[in-house]
Amino acid sequence: MNKKKNILLSLLLCGLVVSCKKAENRESQSKVSSHIMTKEQKDQLNGEEVLKDFIEGNKRFQNRMATVRDHTKPTRKLITGHFPKAVVISCSDNRVPVDDIFDQGLGNIVVGSVAGNFVDEDLLGSTEFACAVAGAKLIMVMGHQHCGAVKAAIDNVRFGNITATLYRIRPAVNISLDFTGMKNSRNNEFVKYVCENNVRLALSEIRKKSPILKEMEDNGKIKVVGTLYSPADGTLQLVK
Ligand SMILES: [Zn+2]
Repeated sequence: MNKKKNILLSLLLCGLVVSCKKAENRESQSKVSSHIMTKEQKDQLNGEEVLKDFIEGNKRFQNRMATVRDHTKPTRKLITGHFPKAVVISCSDNRVPVDDIFDQGLGNIVVGSVAGNFVDEDLLGSTEFACAVAGAKLIMVMGHQHCGAVKAAIDNVRFGNITATLYRIRPAVNISLDFTGMKNSRNNEFVKYVCENNVRLALSEIRKKSPILKEMEDNGKIKVVGTLYSPADGTLQLVK
């Protein structure tokens, strides 16, 4: 009987310890971070390390462990210059909150947003500035699943200035015609395939149309990668 009592007591104590640990974790989660990385800290990083940091940040985002940040006036004062870690070229879709997806604080990411995350001269100029002048070590082109702009390009929508925007995404549709199955915007697998090809085309445009960035990549000064984000579960896959 005493043995049973001891086992019960041990189980209760274990439960208490686990509860305390969980409470501690919740408490540390509720602490607001106002940490800002300095230029010197960012200079120490290379593209591979920034990518690793982003993937770890995305895991925290997926697991609801993202850092609670303070971006109010006192925190903004800590920023002494424009020294990003990375450039993320992303869709302007409001389901794609880039800084949150990678759990990054103020001053870390230059975000280039356009419907369908294609690369044009303006985005290339911004990216060259971020890497060659401001010191960013990673360029990520991030498409996302269920992209409305890609679906509209598949459907060949023509409407106002949207027509010209979709014209930039059409090449991705054209190179996706080897897809086996229904090639329309109602087929999520086809849409995903076009989204991935759209990312591949953007990566190729960066290397083809920006000798500055191509040279930086060839010399190992920056890393260039493609990814596809899933708004439904927050996950990220590499696009090769
Ligand atoms: Zn989109």
